[in-house]
Amino acid sequence: MRRISVLGATGSIGCSTLDLIGRDSGAFRVVALTGGRNIARLADQARRHRAEIAVTAHDECLPDLRAALSGSGIEAAAGQAALIEAADRPADWTMSAIVGIAGLAPGLQALRQGKTLALANKESLVCAGPLLMATARAHGADVLPVDSEHSGIFQALAGQDAGAAERVVITASGGALRDWPQERLAHATVEEAGRHPNWDMGQRITIDSATLFNKAMELIETHEYFGIPPDRIEAVIHPESIVHAIVGFRDGGLLAHLGPADMRHAIGYALHWPARGDVPVERLDFARLGALTFRAPDEGRWPALRLARQVMQAGGLSGAVFNGAKEAALDAFIARRIGFSDMARVVEAAMDALSGSTAVAHNAVPDLENVRRADQLARQAAERSMAAL
Ligand code: NDP
Ligand code: MG
Repeated sequence: MRRISVLGATGSIGCSTLDLIGRDSGAFRVVALTGGRNIARLADQARRHRAEIAVTAHDECLPDLRAALSGSGIEAAAGQAALIEAADRPADWTMSAIVGIAGLAPGLQALRQGKTLALANKESLVCAGPLLMATARAHGADVLPVDSEHSGIFQALAGQDAGAAERVVITASGGALRDWPQERLAHATVEEAGRHPNWDMGQRITIDSATLFNKAMELIETHEYFGIPPDRIEAVIHPESIVHAIVGFRDGGLLAHLGPADMRHAIGYALHWPARGDVPVERLDFARLGALTFRAPDEGRWPALRLARQVMQAGGLSGAVFNGAKEAALDAFIARRIGFSDMARVVEAAMDALSGSTAVAHNAVPDLENVRRADQLARQAAERSMAAL
């Protein structure tokens, strides 16, 4: 039986992961499940999957979690140290699906077990790609991409080194506001930006899809995970979300990864890797699909892509700055403190403000403390820029 832990179990990716595990419960033993404020769901998951321990990130949620688990024999814990301990419990396969930089430290801890980390938390690679990959190497751990585009690239490479790729193309649906006239974007509400045309995901990544910050993060993720130079990584708008990634080889041949817009494919691929298991996603019917279309993204409309290229160029801790400012701007948008189009302005202002900072111009593999400091500086710079809007 493989021992499984799910960090961020109560979220969209976490629920899909447990859905797959529950279908094959004889093969898996659930060790640790972690969540945030959704205590009812966390307790229900822990009972249903007979987890050893359930952990909430928030100390004040512990009494509720204890009450919900009473009589079950399942341990309950709370807080940052407990999250790290949960990630440290021996497990063969750990899903990293906490949203935001909060997922970085638990993911790093899981890697130190030298087993397999299924990585949905793209922020880990954006903020600290070199640290994450060096930690995996140092402990002999495997990192498997779960983001659909990166799972697609991984699958299209079919075991070949990424150096064999002449180019990599990742696709973007364009998000909820793809077809809006540009002048309306500034007035888009949280609800409008949070309705994804194709994918059912958490609120934050759904809004990031509308700004294309999600795709911007994925450009950086591709660069960090596969070590592919930025000038060989492209993003195209593909409204149908059927082709997730395309790898082009030096002989001109291209291998594309296709699938339905259901994250259980990429999760299931990582769960069964290196074998291929049964995954209950819809089977595409090509006779009914109709046209698959592609077009260049308008970088004037979606400045996030340009900012991602700046990050890949600058290296160091600029990814942590980019992400920290983006998280702060997204918080402010969700709280209705700033408008939709302000988010990119705020991130760019924070990046500009910190571009000369020695705390950010770090060339060696940064450690977690440096990443956290850059994240904090970025959030402060973002707040200053929002105050000046
Ligand atoms: P959700 O918002 O649905 O879930 C996030 C999870 O993280 C929940 O379990 C939440 O707990 C927990 N959480 C939130 N804040 C904290 C915190 N500060 N500390 C610890 N745990 C916390 O997100 P998604 O499932 O959509 O996304 C998860 C990750 O996967 C993200 O990095 C995202 O970019 C990535 N991803 C997601 C895809 C998708 O289809 N959803 C596709 C590709 C990548 P609670 O809800 O209980 O508060
Ligand atoms: Mg993706």
